[in-house]
Amino acid sequence: MAVVKAGAYGHGLEEIAKALASEAVEFLGVANIGEARRIREADVESRVYLLGATWEDEREEIVARNITPCISTVEEGIAFNNIAGRRGVKLPVHIAVDTGMGRGGFLPNGIEANVALLEDLQNLNIEGIASHLSSADEDEGFTRLQIASFEETVRRLGGSDRFRWRHLSNSSGILGYPQGCCNLARPGLMLYGVSPLPGHQEKLDNVMTLKSRVTLVRSVPAGHCISYGRSFVTTKPTKIATIGIGYGDGYPRQVSGKAANAFIRGKRHPIVGRVTMDQLVVALPDDTDVKSGDEVELFGSNIPVAEVAALANTIVWDVFTGITPRVQRIHLRTSPK
Ligand SMILES: *Cc1c(COP(=O)(O)O)cnc(C)c1O
Repeated sequence: MAVVKAGAYGHGLEEIAKALASEAVEFLGVANIGEARRIREADVESRVYLLGATWEDEREEIVARNITPCISTVEEGIAFNNIAGRRGVKLPVHIAVDTGMGRGGFLPNGIEANVALLEDLQNLNIEGIASHLSSADEDEGFTRLQIASFEETVRRLGGSDRFRWRHLSNSSGILGYPQGCCNLARPGLMLYGVSPLPGHQEKLDNVMTLKSRVTLVRSVPAGHCISYGRSFVTTKPTKIATIGIGYGDGYPRQVSGKAANAFIRGKRHPIVGRVTMDQLVVALPDDTDVKSGDEVELFGSNIPVAEVAALANTIVWDVFTGITPRVQRIHLRTSPK
């Protein structure tokens, strides 16, 4: 299951969904019906799975579009069963199990009775069972407990043969842990070329490169202040380049003053002063050949996005999904290494 929620982690929902639909992907995973609808309207016919719970008013459309929900309560199951019955269809659903994420799903304790009630609903096809890891990138002990709890729950409900699809792992679960009884996994971040666990990054190819251009190259004297709040003041005559990107594009303002870099003409250059909404400034060496119009990488294969996220005191997921619509997405298909 390729997770393409949040605009495919900022990469462009329709384009990424189309690219993945041509690969051997069983499901596209989305957060809500709005994303599912966009995939359908882009004429992507892959199966679409809703990763979270649904709101009552969304369910008619979910059944009409044959989107696959996960079920966290018997009431949800009954509501879907009624709609599917009225429409004369059998809706495939997955049982959500809360093994320690705490966002949704049935608690493992006593789940048999609930699943028995769902199994009585004639218009549901319970084809899958799922849970979600809360800490696979930071807590091995707890992750192993969650995996064991999921396996034990599946066993109590009839074993692996009972469910066509059994899934638990996000990217860090896939990279760091055995898959146990699972036969489906839900990669998000790693699909976009970033490992949430150290030691696995070299297996992945960079996907997103955030680029801009140099708008101006200027020389300013010593003692000249740069950007809002005058947080950076030159100590000597300095060449500077102004770059046409800022936090209004999703480049994090929080890196201001943290020695973040921009990559221009094969070299890193320090960003100086505060990142503004539309522009930022880098300091250049005296003998620079950087000129207006030059391409600038803010992150990509030369500056890891994880470095930018760390300087901004956040996570890569947040940086990716923060890239705003103002940034034009250009999609190129390359062959994997
Ligand atoms: C977002 C999400 C994923 C993907 O997580 P990554 O850490 O980005 O791989 C998988 N499963 C569920 C339920 C999610 O919400």
